[in-house]
Amino acid sequence: MEEEKKTKFMTQAINDEILEKLSLKNRYSFLNTNLTAILEPNEFNFLKKAQKFCMRFEKKNNITHGPDEDVYDWIPAFGEAGYLTRAHKFEMIDVNYDYYGATAELMRCLAVDFFDPQFSLAGGATVLAINPIYEHHENMPIRLEIMKKFVTGVTPGAILITEPERGSDAVHMLTTCDEQDDGSFLLNGEKIFSTNGPKSGYVVAYATAEKNNGNTMAQFLIDTSWDGWNCERVFIPYVPKVWLGKERLDNLRVPKDYVLGGVGKGREHLFEGLVPERIGIAIDCVAQCWNAVAHAAIYANNRQQFNQMVLKFQGVGFLLTDLWARLTNVTLGLLMFCKNYDSKMEKFGGTLPRNISQALVASASQFKYHTAKLSAEICYEAANLMGGAGLCDNTLMQDLLNMSRIAEIVGGSRQIQNYIMSMAMRQLYKMSGI
Ligand SMILES: Cc1cc2nc3c(=O)[nH]c(=O)nc-3n(C[C@H](O)[C@H](O)[C@H](O)COP(=O)(O)OP(=O)(O)OC[C@H]3O[C@@H](n4cnc5c(N)ncnc54)[C@H](O)[C@@H]3O)c2cc1C
Repeated sequence: MEEEKKTKFMTQAINDEILEKLSLKNRYSFLNTNLTAILEPNEFNFLKKAQKFCMRFEKKNNITHGPDEDVYDWIPAFGEAGYLTRAHKFEMIDVNYDYYGATAELMRCLAVDFFDPQFSLAGGATVLAINPIYEHHENMPIRLEIMKKFVTGVTPGAILITEPERGSDAVHMLTTCDEQDDGSFLLNGEKIFSTNGPKSGYVVAYATAEKNNGNTMAQFLIDTSWDGWNCERVFIPYVPKVWLGKERLDNLRVPKDYVLGGVGKGREHLFEGLVPERIGIAIDCVAQCWNAVAHAAIYANNRQQFNQMVLKFQGVGFLLTDLWARLTNVTLGLLMFCKNYDSKMEKFGGTLPRNISQALVASASQFKYHTAKLSAEICYEAANLMGGAGLCDNTLMQDLLNMSRIAEIVGGSRQIQNYIMSMAMRQLYKMSGI
């Protein structure tokens, strides 16, 4: 079995002993030791349960994370076990998770990202498609059925906001929706960079009654088997296992029951999804950073040069501890945010009042901005501390380094986060009564 495993990678650069030390189990152990004093028992228990599932799954299926594996093959098993999303209890679709919320998502993501970062990214896009259906299902059977398929891993999902000509400027869309007499809509236009687009059975898409008019936006659920759905793959070399779509919607008819938000409701629905989306990206980034630091810490504690472990050279040890300290602090901040978010959700019965939700927009941008930047730095520097071994394909470091290059673009670029934060700061200044 060991022989079979090795042939899936290119030539092994790293020695057997260190490669074994970098196992999923050991990286989890490093993470858990770091979190022992920080997490509450229920958080830790769930984290360990998710980790156990990932370790068993990896072993049972002889997963090497080599280039020939299809991460989409793993979705049904993770869905069945309840590790695709823990954002909600999902009682309306008889899923009834006993542990859920933003903190549960942080724990789940730490476990899943260590297992396979590209799988975790693809799963995150399905969660983005689940959120709007969760908010706007109105107990309609078809919407509940689709939500259940996403949550339980029957099919991945995607969210279609970006267009070839409208990226950062997402509210001035060109994709149109024309309402018909029977309440259905005809959609026409192009979308791009939809994570999971070519693999999804259903997607959530935005369009507008009048081009460039954000006040006329609407939100739709689309069955990708319908006529008028055309999707080709956009290949992003940094994430070769994730399938992104470029879609052309040609007179695609959306029946009334699939209209999640009619004309005029789209922008509000879009903004309401941005807080969980950005916190989700921040969680992903923090998980990637821990995975990178775990790799580098194990390597630096085992790799010998000049007759001693490289950790003991100040250039290595001080850089690694600098990354480690900053990551620990951001993790504490994010954990605090998640717990606070969960307690507010509980207090307000699952839907946050508008003023609170708006106040969280700034925090979500701050975390997304900060963690994406941190991920670009930590994943690069941690790989660097592993020398040549950090650059070859024998470990997940290569995936982590590559993924850290996309973090600042997805979910709104760095400059767009700056822009949102500066508007929020102006608002806060005005509210301060100075
Ligand atoms: C891997 C990946 C996955 C993605 N997944 C999805 C998805 O699932 N669904 C989806 O809808 N989209 C998705 N996207 C699209 C992503 O959200 C956009 O790429 C992003 O919003 C930037 O848009 P753009 O690419 O058109 O860049 P542009 O808008 O063309 O930006 C170009 C540059 O200009 C800067 N800029 C633009 N406007 C301003 C401004 N006002 N002030 C200062 N600087 C500005 C930007 O920061 C950037 O540096 C994904 C993208 C990638 C790469």
